[in-house]
Amino acid sequence: MAYDAMTLADVVMERAEILGAISEEPQLLVRRFATPTLRQAMDTVAGWMSDAGMNVRRDNIGNLIGRYEGVLGATKTLLLGSHLDTVRDAGKYDGPLGVLVAVACVERLQQAGRRLPYAIEVAAFADEEGLRYHTAYLGSNVVAGRFDPAYLTLVDDDGITLIEALRSYGGDPSALAADARDSADLLGYCEVHIEQGPVLEALDLPVGIVSGIAGQSRFTVTWRGMAGHAGTVPMRLRRDALCAAAEFITLVEQVAREHAGLVATVGQIAVQPGASNVIPGQVTLSLDVRHLDDGLREQTIGQLHAQALSIGERRQIDVTWGVVQEHGSLLCARELVALLGRAVQAQGYPIHELPSGAGHDAVVMAELGPVAMLFVRCKDGVSHHPAESVAVADVAVAIDVLQEFLELLGRADGR
Ligand SMILES: [Zn+2]
Repeated sequence: MAYDAMTLADVVMERAEILGAISEEPQLLVRRFATPTLRQAMDTVAGWMSDAGMNVRRDNIGNLIGRYEGVLGATKTLLLGSHLDTVRDAGKYDGPLGVLVAVACVERLQQAGRRLPYAIEVAAFADEEGLRYHTAYLGSNVVAGRFDPAYLTLVDDDGITLIEALRSYGGDPSALAADARDSADLLGYCEVHIEQGPVLEALDLPVGIVSGIAGQSRFTVTWRGMAGHAGTVPMRLRRDALCAAAEFITLVEQVAREHAGLVATVGQIAVQPGASNVIPGQVTLSLDVRHLDDGLREQTIGQLHAQALSIGERRQIDVTWGVVQEHGSLLCARELVALLGRAVQAQGYPIHELPSGAGHDAVVMAELGPVAMLFVRCKDGVSHHPAESVAVADVAVAIDVLQEFLELLGRADGR
């Protein structure tokens, strides 16, 4: 069998290597939105899509979409896909794996001369990471009809506006709204992605089914005390903003550990004036809180906010709590999750559901219809790093699971 899962997985790994070499910088992997480099990666994938029997088109934001028709008279469409843009100094699998596994499944259908009761479209999204314009999901937002025209005025680090970048990439900014996908014929969206965490590896499982994508809240908390001479101001008279912030940071960790699945992170801190012989007068820190249960996330934030104020009061520090971003969690569609579960079991593996702490295009695609995601184990849970690694045997399992999912969906629906 030329098209068994292992052979296809080998092809996926080779293609991931090829895409991994298409970079804006020679020593590391980076593919930003609307760059000639992303175009080169898209063109390469377009060739593979054509070889797999798909009709390929590009929309005006730069997404690549390959379509494999269903049986004659099929009226429904299933969307598969992931993204081809990367972070800076990225790994080879975050994004491309989902596109390549989907193309491999279509390739196998074509090889077998099979048509399903529905059409398949594989989307390679142009911007998920948000590296260039610091706003994620530009690609899927267009497909979901949620692109905000205000984004067109965003400026990248080189002073190039998004509208200019789109034009030089060959897109028509005035036609973006028309690229929105009609949801009427959609069966849903299913994305394969590396886990980006260590859970599947710890359980010794090749794949897991995403139960939902965690809601996320991001804040900036500012602590204002009083700067002073490190040698002359006695300890009892100090209003040290950094000591107050430090107390809060350890509290964040403690509170997050009290609830299963809750993650909270202080990842940035700025101290002013920031000198070794000056008492810190002002501290600004970031706070990131995520959980699949929106109620628990909101309750935790309320608790942390109250405790920040109480630390400030006790230490005579002014505390300002600023919201940067808040969005609710997304639960994957149970009917698709159930089909993925049957597909996993059919390959002889137990079902393990896990939440995604990272955001994905699926969050946006949920605006159009039901979504599901399959996670593939990655080495040491590492992602957004050149050490990102997946095993070819696990990719083979992902291909078999997705294929089985397609077959089960054809039997369940799609006429
Ligand atoms: Zn990704």
